[in-house]
Amino acid sequence: MDLRDSPEEAAFRKEVVDFIEKEAPKFPRGTRLEEVLVKSGDWFRKLAARGWIAPAWPKEYGGAGMSVVEQFIFNEEMAIHRAPRPLHLIIGLGMAGPTIVVHGTEEQKAKWLPGMLAGTDIWCQGYSEPEAGSDLASLRTRAVKDGDDYVLNGQKIWSTIAHFARWMICLARTDPDAPKHRGITYFVVDMKSPGVEVRGLTNMADAHEFNEVFFDNVRVPKENVLGEENRGWYVAMTTLDFERSSVGSAIGMRQEVEEMIEYAREHADEPTSALKLNPMLRFEMTDRLIEAEAGRMLSYRIASMQARGLIPNYEASLLKVYSAELHQRIACTQLKVLGMYAQLKSGSAQAPLDGRWCNQYLRSVGYTIEAGTSEIQRNIIAQRGFGLPRG
Ligand SMILES: Cc1cc2nc3c(=O)[nH]c(=O)nc-3n(C[C@H](O)[C@H](O)[C@H](O)COP(=O)(O)OP(=O)(O)OC[C@H]3O[C@@H](n4cnc5c(N)ncnc54)[C@H](O)[C@@H]3O)c2cc1C
Repeated sequence: MDLRDSPEEAAFRKEVVDFIEKEAPKFPRGTRLEEVLVKSGDWFRKLAARGWIAPAWPKEYGGAGMSVVEQFIFNEEMAIHRAPRPLHLIIGLGMAGPTIVVHGTEEQKAKWLPGMLAGTDIWCQGYSEPEAGSDLASLRTRAVKDGDDYVLNGQKIWSTIAHFARWMICLARTDPDAPKHRGITYFVVDMKSPGVEVRGLTNMADAHEFNEVFFDNVRVPKENVLGEENRGWYVAMTTLDFERSSVGSAIGMRQEVEEMIEYAREHADEPTSALKLNPMLRFEMTDRLIEAEAGRMLSYRIASMQARGLIPNYEASLLKVYSAELHQRIACTQLKVLGMYAQLKSGSAQAPLDGRWCNQYLRSVGYTIEAGTSEIQRNIIAQRGFGLPRG
């Protein structure tokens, strides 16, 4: 694998860097994510004007039509320069949008894609249910055909940002008698429909990030079915491929580690400096840096496979497990660097970095659960990577 940029790639990298340096807003270290998102509206509009808000989408639908390598360079430079990403739009731009591009009709594309690109419509994902997470195909939410509509009844859970969302990509059972993967249909549900109730769930970092969503006789027009009736499982897998193929996070982790080292160095002379009290911490930070670099190499491997037209399979699971677990280790080391002050959350005048690392530590627990747990990913690596029998 040649890690150097070709002349064209180097020129593209320079274009991205110049644009970010000129246009991206800068925020002091420790700025809360909510504040970053609120104050980055102009920047997101500038990204959208170039199609760079949706790097992977084809140009004809308002995206940038970037090649896999260009997307990689773009993501890498965004992470290196800590340029704000429109995280509130990520389910729309990163998952629902690309799925609609693949499976949607022209009418559906015209109806839903512009609102995603303009940032006016937030999307959420209604896959998981109380009894259907890892075993998603066991889902029980029912959709029954009634004239030109389907009538939806049931419950979703862990639906991230559903309390802001205008639309939900939603799986429901349309044929209860078919084998469980075959009787599922993929809907787009208008969250303003009568009968949709969103109840907030607070996570242990005290953030209202995800929700329960209840459907009580919600009417969904048949035009909102994506793909064919009872074939929604295959559409759903397209969305999961887009969700799991993200290689951006491993690149961002190196920045996290560098920021941590910077902080430790800046505070090294203070009497409560964690480095002074625990000299071994420097080895732990070094381990994190080496691991983050290994994560970056894994990302290169996935990107180079995609660039050759190959579809990463167990390799994507490998990166997901590695990144999620490393993210947790980094969060743990960050707390050690802050010492006893690490326990102070946002809102305390003494909280270093306004409690951001404390919050990150609590939030990081979910990384090995969301988008497929580490156990499920390891099963995939064992079966498809090593050819071991099913457990
Ligand atoms: C922060 C966060 C955000 C999320 N956002 C969304 C969202 O927006 N939309 C959405 O639909 N869902 C969302 N989810 C839900 C997520 O997809 C599920 O939590 C996940 O798939 C696991 O399902 P479960 O919670 O039902 O756990 P279960 O499937 O009940 O698993 C429980 C435990 O058993 C283990 N296990 C299960 N099956 C096996 C097996 N075959 N072999 C070995 N071990 C196994 C699991 O690894 C886990 O440790 C989110 C979750 C989190 C944490």
